[in-house]
Amino acid sequence: MSFTIYVNNTPIEVQEGETLLPVLRRNGIKIPTVCYMHGFTPSGACRLCVVEVEGKRDLITSCTYPVEPEMEIKTNSMRVIKARKALVEMLLANHPDDCLYCERNGNCELQWLAEEMNIKERLFFSRKNSDKRDHSSPSVYRDPAKCILCNRCVRVCEEVQLVTAIEFISRGNKTTVNSAFDKGLNVSSCINCGQCIMVCPTGALVDISHIEKVQSVLDSSKKDAVALLSPAFITSVAEFFNLKAIDKPTNLLKTVLAKMGFKHIYHMGQAADLNIEMETEALLSALENNQTPIFSSCCPAWIKYAEEFQSQMLENISHVKSPQQIMGRIAKYHSESKQEQDIEKLYTVSFVPCVANKFESSREENTQKGISEVDAVISVREFMKMLRSHGININRLLYEKNDKGLEYVSPAGYQMGYSGGKAEAIAHHVNHKIFGKNAEPIKFSPPKNPGSKREVKVKIGEREIGFAWVSGIREAQEYFDLLKQEGRKDIHYIEVMACQGGCAGGGGQPIATYIDKNKQRKKTGQELEKNTTYDSPGKSEKLQKLLGALKGDKGIIEELHTQFRKRDVLK
Ligand code: SF4
Ligand code: SF4
Repeated sequence: MSFTIYVNNTPIEVQEGETLLPVLRRNGIKIPTVCYMHGFTPSGACRLCVVEVEGKRDLITSCTYPVEPEMEIKTNSMRVIKARKALVEMLLANHPDDCLYCERNGNCELQWLAEEMNIKERLFFSRKNSDKRDHSSPSVYRDPAKCILCNRCVRVCEEVQLVTAIEFISRGNKTTVNSAFDKGLNVSSCINCGQCIMVCPTGALVDISHIEKVQSVLDSSKKDAVALLSPAFITSVAEFFNLKAIDKPTNLLKTVLAKMGFKHIYHMGQAADLNIEMETEALLSALENNQTPIFSSCCPAWIKYAEEFQSQMLENISHVKSPQQIMGRIAKYHSESKQEQDIEKLYTVSFVPCVANKFESSREENTQKGISEVDAVISVREFMKMLRSHGININRLLYEKNDKGLEYVSPAGYQMGYSGGKAEAIAHHVNHKIFGKNAEPIKFSPPKNPGSKREVKVKIGEREIGFAWVSGIREAQEYFDLLKQEGRKDIHYIEVMACQGGCAGGGGQPIATYIDKNKQRKKTGQELEKNTTYDSPGKSEKLQKLLGALKGDKGIIEELHTQFRKRDVLK
């Protein structure tokens, strides 16, 4: 049932059961909040979203209050503004005044609130949080002093990722957010997904930065910096700068990285193609031997979750390395940039929208005799900083000649950047393997609700193969439980991505709490996909040649596979 409410004397049509905050936002009325997150049950904890309702004595929190017929609301009365200002002043009472040195300087919700409320001085003083900073994780850095206890990270970690690596400790003014037993995140159940960073309004949670170590390599003649560009990263940069396929974002990025000082630049799409080829073979072999389902292995946060919580599933996870590690391995040991005597001279840097890749690059399975396949991992956020520090203006470069492309790749790399894309690429490649070069591309119809679980059955030859994809660990776990409960055997390949929407919603993307961003990135990725040269890795002669050469040496193919292990962590 719909009815009318009056907001600042303007009539607004609403639906029964809605709460006020989304209604106000939908109608372009900005309401401050630090605890509310779209898609989560509102808690009203921060109280910043208060509004005045005619006839009510107290201000009400708009995130929790349901609309009522004929209600009259004031969103910006003096009373409301004063209340919100006092709340922000209290949030600032124990906050360190180090904005200049903060990772989130200029992109901090607390800073914006203080500015919007016209706060010019500290009115309240309270005990500073003296919990130690946590540098222990390879992906996430925590600075408890900057935490405003909004609860967003705790909820994402528990409700979306099912991990509960961080939680509220103590009560009252002693409350803090911490990992289990105040031990570092590195020994907690954290899966390094970085989703807590994406929702934190302040600099309390940020990524472990690799910028400085990359900068020092670029600055020295002792090492040759090698860039590994993931398609999902190219997509994010294209989306950020509103670049179209016609602007050739890959070529543009090649120019940018060369300007920064990278000696060799590789498109990680080649490694994605190799991953698809080998994982397709793993699926076909599992089908032959009745050992399905096979789970995808390209998301390092999902792998860590399985190692910690679902170790019985490990043998069904494809053992093919992720595109990042395949590309690092090839760039260091099997490419023209390899220098026979001195592999140590090569310094590989992957560019990805993920912070779990930082953890992945540090896994001992991805290191040989102390040499890492991937030496540093730069997220999209870090890349934006590097652009600024190198004084590079992407839009200006558009007018320069950027026609030197990278190796041609199939769409698979771009497809792997969003949930469902990899399953589609595998289905298409199975088809290609059975019907040969003339196989029609397999396209899954777009899901009604992107980011949610989906199943597709594809008739390939005589056989019906079931593909499924899930993103977000809670959704994945619920899906596994369902398959088990129902004893289903009709799903043969399951793509699992830890971040909702896949890498499009990765923990290394520019900070934005809107799910719509993921959809935009998916669209941009699909546009770039259309401009790849082949519709399947199987149709790329160059790739098949590379694969042929690699297959000629069993040892190399083994190098592109990995092992997983049960992990004991503090839970
Ligand atoms: S990185 Fe992921 S798993 Fe770790 S604390 Fe953050 S949300 Fe939880
Ligand atoms: S760490 Fe950030 S997201 Fe978590 S409670 Fe503190 S301010 Fe909120």
